[in-house]
Amino acid sequence: MTASSSVTSEVGIHLKGITKTFGEVVAVDDVDIVIREGEFYSLLGPSGCGKTTSLRMIAGFEVPDTGRILLRDKDVSGDLPSKRNVNMVFQHYALFPHMNVEDNVMFGLRVSGVRKKERVQRVAEILEIVRLPGFQKRKPFQLSGGQQQRVALARALVNRPSALLLDEPLGALDVKLRREMQLELKAIQHDLGTTFVYVTHDQEEALTMSDRIAVMNLGRVEQVGTPREIYEHPESSFVAGFIGSLNAMDLKIQQRQDDTGGMTVGEGWVIARVDADVAVGTTLRAAVRPERIALGPAGAPVHPDGSVVVGTVEEVIYLGAMSLFHVDIPGLGQLVSQRMSHEDESAYRTGDRVSASWELAHTLVLE
Ligand code: ATP
Repeated sequence: MTASSSVTSEVGIHLKGITKTFGEVVAVDDVDIVIREGEFYSLLGPSGCGKTTSLRMIAGFEVPDTGRILLRDKDVSGDLPSKRNVNMVFQHYALFPHMNVEDNVMFGLRVSGVRKKERVQRVAEILEIVRLPGFQKRKPFQLSGGQQQRVALARALVNRPSALLLDEPLGALDVKLRREMQLELKAIQHDLGTTFVYVTHDQEEALTMSDRIAVMNLGRVEQVGTPREIYEHPESSFVAGFIGSLNAMDLKIQQRQDDTGGMTVGEGWVIARVDADVAVGTTLRAAVRPERIALGPAGAPVHPDGSVVVGTVEEVIYLGAMSLFHVDIPGLGQLVSQRMSHEDESAYRTGDRVSASWELAHTLVLE
């Protein structure tokens, strides 16, 4: 959680033992999620894992088969969407094309009977917050895609919902605009202190914006944590693979010492911190992130106290600021090391013999 986060200790939204099936398909399978008031909380996972269905159940557009939904401690499971104090923003923001920005944003306020003077004032305030001051009289066609999405956001926020539910809201924008909007959305959320529940299949997006992330797979929550916890301490192969790239390997424990276990690989070794009950002979699934693998001369590894293996550079992929080195390690397979292009290590070329090494703490034991 960042120091500037608006998260409180109160419960904003609680999904309690929620299951939802569509015919044979179990879309959401016994999900339990507690979202704190003021939190930027993302549901992250591949297509079809149940993110949107979960969000739609919070909004009241779908009814769970079992379980309950609480908003600020109030059981809203049986309430209609209009009775729940939440709003939703979609990827395809349907603004009314014939109405200007002001009328689009104040639409909901008009429906709920707020008087004209207050409506105008609240629209002006929320347009400030979404960084569109003075845009009241523009029509949607006079706005860029990012600006239109900000109007949709203003429209969803102007009646001050207790939570905003966002379903891939930046999916239609190009990459550059998407990056800008990610930071802006986070800033807007922080300024308002409103709980945001954000659905995305884009791990970078979730890591950039969220206070916490629930990683979903096949209708279930695999892990909940801060971006750093999820990235650095994934608890399953699925989470590790989904959140960034990794070098996965089978680690057959041949030796144990204190809290460490390891195996030899050619003249080198791979070691990991392992639980006390892991016996010699056990095979664990382990992984190391590409950015953690340092390259050095074959006889002089950068991290001699960690894992050290030796192999041959098979391929170098130049990506501008960084390069990827595919290193073939006899007895282990291929490892990918990511190095910054300005580092000395990135001078290695195809065919070079190198040591690949990483610190003990960076061998992730997955399950
Ligand atoms: P995406 O990122 O592609 O939107 P998602 O993680 O949001 O995926 P859901 O839309 O929640 O996934 O769908 C979960 C599963 O439930 C999928 O297998 C989907 O096909 C199924 N599903 C969702 N809505 C319905 C429906 N109305 N009728 C039948 N099956 C549905």
